[in-house]
Amino acid sequence: MLKRYLLAPGPTPVPPEVLMSMSMPIIHHRSPDFIPVLESAKEGLKWLYQTDNDVLILCSTGTGGMVGAVNNFFNPSEKVIVVNGGKFGERWTRICKSYGLDVTEIEVRWGYAVRPEQVEEALRGNPDIKGVFIQASETSTGVYHDIKTVAEVVGKYDDTLMVVDAISALVAHDLKTDEWGIDVMVGGSQKGVMLPPGLAFVSVSDKAWARAEKCSMPNFYFNFRAEREKLKNNQTNFTSPVTLIIGLNEVIGILRKEGLENAFHRHARLAHATREAVRATGLNLFAKESPSNSVTAIEAPAGIDGQLIYKTLRESFGVTAAGGQGDAKGKIFRIAHLGYTGIFDVITAVSAVEMTLKKLGHDVKLGSGVAVAEELLMGDKA
Ligand SMILES: *Cc1c(COP(=O)(O)O)cnc(C)c1O
Repeated sequence: MLKRYLLAPGPTPVPPEVLMSMSMPIIHHRSPDFIPVLESAKEGLKWLYQTDNDVLILCSTGTGGMVGAVNNFFNPSEKVIVVNGGKFGERWTRICKSYGLDVTEIEVRWGYAVRPEQVEEALRGNPDIKGVFIQASETSTGVYHDIKTVAEVVGKYDDTLMVVDAISALVAHDLKTDEWGIDVMVGGSQKGVMLPPGLAFVSVSDKAWARAEKCSMPNFYFNFRAEREKLKNNQTNFTSPVTLIIGLNEVIGILRKEGLENAFHRHARLAHATREAVRATGLNLFAKESPSNSVTAIEAPAGIDGQLIYKTLRESFGVTAAGGQGDAKGKIFRIAHLGYTGIFDVITAVSAVEMTLKKLGHDVKLGSGVAVAEELLMGDKA
């Protein structure tokens, strides 16, 4: 038997009490049994999103939420800006183009964060730009974009929506939806939210709802206005993924007990320890600035294929991390510290990386990274 450890940036491990809650018999989504369940999830999501607006719950992966964020608020040939600093930035562009939007990309070198001035420059003199699309945490590079400052820039334009893919950032990074003026923010269940895949969440500001009234894009499954009306009565438009929503309430309970600030702090400390430990082994981080608290991307040492490191971690040591995507494939591997994670997930990951490198013939001192992680995390409640 090879014991398995899931340390990928989604799906992430699900806490046992959440798994237990999801083993209850199915209840009917239009029955009175379900109303309080959805009502509680609705309140919990507002808390988690730090917003006074209802957060839509969709039965889809995160990408479904991204698609809805495009076809509910924009019209074909409208001008938008996409911050493209990795695989998921590229996905915004592909979705926008598939609906006929006129996309201008701000291309950000992989491993770097967008400078808010770049967004400012792109918007200056272009009040007809209807939206700015961005990732909070760009999972493919392990970089966090400065959402607060970019939202400030976008907020100066009355007709421009700030649309954030926070799928891998939710719970790991403090994102103040209302206070910062984020108009549309997409989340997903299988990352920081510690649930199985299958739910997308979308918050919508008043500014964005006003825009939705003017949108004529065809949408049937991801019809946000219909979802909003149903949600007022604690229902979803179609059959609710009742099991996942029951699990969501359990997750919200766990996070309320921990406290949001503490959850952000836990992710920050685990991420910091991971980065310092990895550097102590002699490896370089792929994120050259503004590293994400959700996932650490690590450069494969010269002469070793990043995909082989990922494969060896999994096959020899039972650790499922992640390889590189797109242009970074083969050059990096990624370790998540996202959701249901603590000190010994970091220790496990760093230890497995050391053993993997040694096994692959790389000159690494066993324990060099682990010692650093232990020092940094000792006396730590995470
Ligand atoms: C995982 C992820 C997605 C895609 O989510 P799916 O659930 O696979 O559709 C989108 N954006 C980011 C930043 C992600 O990490």
